[in-house]
Amino acid sequence: MANPTAETLVLIGALMSVAGIDAVGDTSMTDDPTDSGTATDSDRPTDPIATDGGVAEPTLTAEDLLAVSDERFDTDTVAIVTGASSGIGRATAVALAYNDLTVVGIDLDEAGLEETIEKAEAIGAPGRVVAATGDLTDDDRMADVVDAASEEGTIRYLANIAGLQHIDRISEFPMEKFDLMYDVMVRAPFLLSKLVVPHVEATGDGIGAIGNMASVHAHYATQAKPAYIITKFALRGLAQAIAAEGKGTLRGFSLSVGYVKTPLVTDQIPDTAEERGISEREVIEDVMLGQARTKEMMTPAEVANLFTLGFSKHGRQLNGGDMLFDGGYTLTYE
Ligand code: NAD
Repeated sequence: MANPTAETLVLIGALMSVAGIDAVGDTSMTDDPTDSGTATDSDRPTDPIATDGGVAEPTLTAEDLLAVSDERFDTDTVAIVTGASSGIGRATAVALAYNDLTVVGIDLDEAGLEETIEKAEAIGAPGRVVAATGDLTDDDRMADVVDAASEEGTIRYLANIAGLQHIDRISEFPMEKFDLMYDVMVRAPFLLSKLVVPHVEATGDGIGAIGNMASVHAHYATQAKPAYIITKFALRGLAQAIAAEGKGTLRGFSLSVGYVKTPLVTDQIPDTAEERGISEREVIEDVMLGQARTKEMMTPAEVANLFTLGFSKHGRQLNGGDMLFDGGYTLTYE
């Protein structure tokens, strides 16, 4: 970072401490900060901009989770969730286990998966979370994981959530980073869909759903996130392709949300500040929330609840569609 001021350094320190990270990188592989600290719920600010300048990821509790009555939501039904060690993926794994499903969580971060299992147990989820450590770019491992998941019960649901961010303009963008983001956020969701579809089709009724974690960046583009924008647009396309082939029972859908309180967001604040030549606080207030009408970031649990709804019978007409929950970000203009 060029010439950081003392204030900037304090802010970065606060953000890093909130995120529980030692260094600011451009990948998403950090631990959930909420589980490692000693702060209680009441210590945590509900405003996205904490008094110390940080973005606090809220503690996940049962009260935050949507409970849906659905005859297929039971422990014999399996949901595969990628990125289950952190942020939105963790919350979704816990939320689906809370709705009685058996969840197979895929992530690189083995310790993070264990924390997700503990989190589901701690809130008294009736369903189990099963850890499947693995790299989404490893095709053989993904085939083995889906095979193993089918031993746990009937696979009906897949949540493609894992992702990462890299901030650079097109002319500067490292091709190896583009390839990695494409492999994790487009190729792997396609491969897992390819592996899961036959399992859903083999059920008597063919009912199931694949939900892809997109973003407001699947609707419009901002500067210095070209790979992210391209992959998020592609995830909407994949959802529609699944819907087109799903015979009305196997549904595809995508979720497009604005900024969510997770490590992926805290990690990109310094890079965005540097890229735009503005302060960390300006990134949060102006870049991340400036255009939104709802002036608070979403929580991981709020996003997880959308997966629960989308997978359930209440999502029956959500077939190829995109759930745009962005606080007014993309469809309003002040
Ligand atoms: P996060 O950094 O908290 O979690 C991402 C997880 O993906 C990590 O646990 C990481 O280990 C895992 N992962 C990354 N590469 C992997 C690989 N090759 N194999 C297996 N696991 C891998 O991020 P998050 O904020 O929870 O984001 C989750 C998804 O939601 C991403 O696709 C992101 O683009 C999307 N999203 C996030 C926001 C936001 O504001 N946080 C907004 C819109 C969309």
